[in-house]
Amino acid sequence: LTIEERLNVNAWDTDIYRPHIKIKDQEICRKCEKKPCTYMCPAKCYVQQGEIVVLSTEACLECGTCRVVCPYDNIDWNYPRSGFGVWYRFS
Ligand code: SF4
Ligand code: SF4
Repeated sequence: LTIEERLNVNAWDTDIYRPHIKIKDQEICRKCEKKPCTYMCPAKCYVQQGEIVVLSTEACLECGTCRVVCPYDNIDWNYPRSGFGVWYRFS
């Protein structure tokens, strides 16, 4: 199986009313030259659209990579509320 196929085996219970990760300030993203979140997130949750970055947390793996690689500490990162988030299934 490819990495993508393995990831697709997992399941998610998304907390649509309270995203567990947020970008703090899009103005900072505009100035962020390399935008590492857009290529370091294994679930491709961050997508560059022009100068801004759009985040969707539905497929988040809760790995914490985005929080570590953001050079401006511009990500408000929390675990999902109890009962929500990724359900890992190994294959
Ligand atoms: Fe914005 Fe941080 Fe991503 Fe840069 S790495 S684009 S500052 S969220
Ligand atoms: Fe992507 Fe991991 Fe950040 Fe979730 S925690 S958005 S999977 S880098």
